[in-house]
Amino acid sequence: MSSVDAWVAKGPKQKFVRDEIDLGPLGPEEVEVQVEHCGICHSDLSVLNNDWAVSTYPAVLGHEVIGRVAEVGSAAKGVKVGQRVGIGWTAASCLHCRQCRSGNQHLCLEALPTIIKHHGGFARRVRSHWMWTIPLPQTLNFADSGPLLCGGITVFNPLAMHAKPTSRVGIIGIGGLGHMGVKFAAAYGCDVTAFTSSESKFDEARGFGAHHVVSSRDSAAMKKLAGTLDLLISTVNVPMDWPALMNTLAPNGRLHVVGAVLEPIPVAVFPMIMGQKNVSGSPTGSPVAIETMLEFAARHNITPQTEHFPMNRINEAFERLEAGKARYRIVLDADF
Ligand code: NAP
Ligand code: ZN
Repeated sequence: MSSVDAWVAKGPKQKFVRDEIDLGPLGPEEVEVQVEHCGICHSDLSVLNNDWAVSTYPAVLGHEVIGRVAEVGSAAKGVKVGQRVGIGWTAASCLHCRQCRSGNQHLCLEALPTIIKHHGGFARRVRSHWMWTIPLPQTLNFADSGPLLCGGITVFNPLAMHAKPTSRVGIIGIGGLGHMGVKFAAAYGCDVTAFTSSESKFDEARGFGAHHVVSSRDSAAMKKLAGTLDLLISTVNVPMDWPALMNTLAPNGRLHVVGAVLEPIPVAVFPMIMGQKNVSGSPTGSPVAIETMLEFAARHNITPQTEHFPMNRINEAFERLEAGKARYRIVLDADF
C-alpha cells in the first residue's frame, strides 16, 4: 500500500490534520506494519516543535509502535505477514559501518529515526528495515507495550550497562521514561530512589517499586543522600540542581543522562576526580538490546502505566503530554 492515512503536522507547532501520505514503493529490505497502538514520547513533542532543529515536515510522528506485519519486501528476513511486531526510535541503519557490524546499530551515524525524514506510527501503516522490526514475546500485553519500544529501552539500557542487582539506583523525573526506569530497576533487584518534582507522584512511584522517593526540588533532602547512589539516570529535559544530584553519587558512581536537556550540565571536576565519578549518556538501544528488554519485561510482568486515546484525539493527547498531565504514558489506538 503506497498511499496511507496519517495524522500529519505541516509545520512546527502545528495541530495534526488527517491526510493521505505517499510512502512510495516498498524497498526490498523494508517491512510495512499495520499500526494498532502507538505511544507518545516526549521526543515526539520536541520533534513536532522543532526543539532540536532537525525536524522535517510534513511530519508524521509516533515511534512506539505495536502492530502487525502487513507486507514484507522481497529481501526482508526474520518477520512474517501477520506477525505482531514493534518499531521504536530507529527505523533503519546502514548495517555496514563498524558500529552496525559490532552490534551497536543504534550508534550508526546514518541511523534513520522513525520520525525524521521518515513517516512514523501515527498512521494506518508505517515502515521499517526488517532488522529494526522487532518481534514481540507472546506473553507481552500488546496494547500497553508500545512505550517499551522507545522509552523502555532507553532506561533499560543504562541499567544493563551500568547497574548490578545490588546497586543503589536513582531515577530523576517520573514521567514516561522515569516510571519504566523505576519498574525495571526494582525488578532487577536494585535499591531504587525516585526523584520527582511532583508530590502527587510520591505514592505512585512507590507503587512502581521505588524504595525511597525524594523531591527533586528539595536540596536539603538531596543533601541527606550524599555519597550513597551508584547510578543516577536522568530522564528530565530541564535544568536541575546538578551539583546537588552529583553529590548524591557514591565513589565510582555515575550520572547517566537520557533526558534531552538542551542546556549544558555543569560538572565540578574536583569531586569527580576524588570520587572517580562518571557522567555519560545513551540513545535507546540496539535491536538485540530491545529484544532482551522485551523478554525481561514479559518475564517480570513489567507493563507501562498508560492512558489510551483513540488516534483521532491526537491533538488533545499532545496537549495533555505538554501540560505534564500524562500518567504516565499516553498510547494512541489506531482508529482509521
Ligand atoms: P515526560 O513523560 O514528559 O517526562 C519527563 C519528566 O521530567 C516529567 O514527568 C517530570 O517528572 C520531569 N520534569 C518535567 N518538567 C520538569 C521541571 N520543570 N522540573 C523538574 N522536573 C520536570 O517525558 P519522557 O517521554 O519520559 O521523555 C523524557 C526525556 O527523554 C525527553 O527529553 C525525551 O526527548 C528524552 N528521550 C531520550 C531518549 C534517548 O534515546 N536518550 C529516548 C526517549 C526520550 P516529575 O514530575 O517526576 O518531576
Ligand atoms: Zn522516544
